[in-house]
Amino acid sequence: MNVVIADDSRVMRSIIGKAVDSLGHNIIYACNGQEVLDYLEKCGDEIELILLDWNMPVLTGFEALQRMQENCKYQNIPVLMVSTESEDQKVDQAKEAGACGYLAKPFTQEELSSAIQMVIS
Ligand SMILES: [Mg+2]
Repeated sequence: MNVVIADDSRVMRSIIGKAVDSLGHNIIYACNGQEVLDYLEKCGDEIELILLDWNMPVLTGFEALQRMQENCKYQNIPVLMVSTESEDQKVDQAKEAGACGYLAKPFTQEELSSAIQMVIS
């Protein structure tokens, strides 16, 4: 499965990347929401899951999620928000904007695996 990991923190990208890699998925990295949209523009039909950080420069993950929902080509790509923003209100806001799941940082490998399973099933 082709998975986009979008996070502005190099350390976080590495942590999430190791976890996703151990599940056997192919990874594409992005550092902000704009890079996600740019990648979708180029190879959107190859992407099967996006792990999206909320707080990122240039374009936040939340803004990228909103842009994706405005485009019928990207509406059906599952998005798992992965964020330090863990208040219920934020979780609801992300789900209303179209996120399929929400994983609060920090998380264990098991929590990440089960969140991914839930989102893609
Ligand atoms: Mg961030």
